[in-house]
Amino acid sequence: MATSQEHKNPNGLEAVQETLARLGVAGDADWMALVLFARNLVSVMDLFTEDQKAQLQARVFEQMAKRPLDQRRFRHIVQHIQTFLLDNQKMSDLRSQLAAERQGFDALYEEMGKVFTEIQHSTQAREHKIQRMGAATEQDIAEAESPAEVLRRLRGMITDMVSQAREEARSWQERARQLEHTANFDPLLSELYSRRALDAQLSAAQERCRRSNTPMSLMFLDVDNFKTINDTHGHQVGDGVLRVLAAILSAHAMSFSGYAARFGGEELVILCEGLTEATAVARAEDIRQDVARCPFVPHLTSPETVPPLHVTVSIGVAQIGPGQNASDLVLAADQAMYAAKTQGRNRVVAHGSLTPSRTT
Ligand code: GH3
Ligand code: MG
Ligand code: MG
Repeated sequence: MATSQEHKNPNGLEAVQETLARLGVAGDADWMALVLFARNLVSVMDLFTEDQKAQLQARVFEQMAKRPLDQRRFRHIVQHIQTFLLDNQKMSDLRSQLAAERQGFDALYEEMGKVFTEIQHSTQAREHKIQRMGAATEQDIAEAESPAEVLRRLRGMITDMVSQAREEARSWQERARQLEHTANFDPLLSELYSRRALDAQLSAAQERCRRSNTPMSLMFLDVDNFKTINDTHGHQVGDGVLRVLAAILSAHAMSFSGYAARFGGEELVILCEGLTEATAVARAEDIRQDVARCPFVPHLTSPETVPPLHVTVSIGVAQIGPGQNASDLVLAADQAMYAAKTQGRNRVVAHGSLTPSRTT
């Protein structure tokens, strides 16, 4: 079995060969690949914590110390690694989703804090105003030359108060609208609904479509090679690209009453109530072409030195089937998007066009 020192050295090919010889599988390409993977895990997979990587390495080498080292054990170890990668990818997705949620909540809390402070100030101001009015009325009554004059002055003051209150109510309505926006829209891509709002909308829409027996489809859109854009031009330019994309998406969504939201990271969706998969595919194709044609001019860079970016997207489309729920729909559209990636990116794939083995 390899020592912990060996695990940490990613380049020790000779040591790997020695280990394999000791285990009785010298020269076996499969086992060599497995040992190299486990040894190199430390340096290449930033996604996982050191603890997670150490745990997986220990488990792999523990299995390799057992006999016989046959194909069955090989498959068992590979299966274990796959489960680990899948589980931890889910954890990582969850972590970034939580971080995005927290960002949304922070913005909401900050705004609510401001609103509460304003409510307090406005209540105090109103109390002062009423006190002042009371004092003025007493003075007016004392000074007025006739009861009609008292009434006239009183009416004037009440009219003033009412119009001020109306003004205040209007501004509160505006604040309420802003609060609602913060709660329902993405903090970075303000034209798109947030993941939280999308989840609520998905269940409500599913129920509406079930009752009215109308179709419901979903487009799942992912930016192609977005990591390269970030790595080449920086995260802020990446953010700028997402903003342009959000504007294109929401304009299209508006044209067919779609519900455009940010699913997470660089993954965006449009929920299409009333659209069949075929119609949604046609709309998605319009979006794909528009994105591919649009020169993305990144913010914070000079157009002379950085040419407009060429951005493409892969889109998966699915329609909710009988007995399916909103999560099945999201999963199906995601699978179709993944197929679009493997087919070469910058394309639209309908879930209905996938062979059954790919959809399981
Ligand atoms: P693919 O074509 O397979 O989708 O390649 P990709 O590079 O787009 O895929 P990958 O999932 O490897 O990378 C997605 C990147 O998107 C990684 C992450 O850092 C970046 N990203 C996610 N959210 C944001 C964001 O809000 N702003 C920026 N600038 N980058 C983001
Ligand atoms: Mg992605
Ligand atoms: Mg991507």
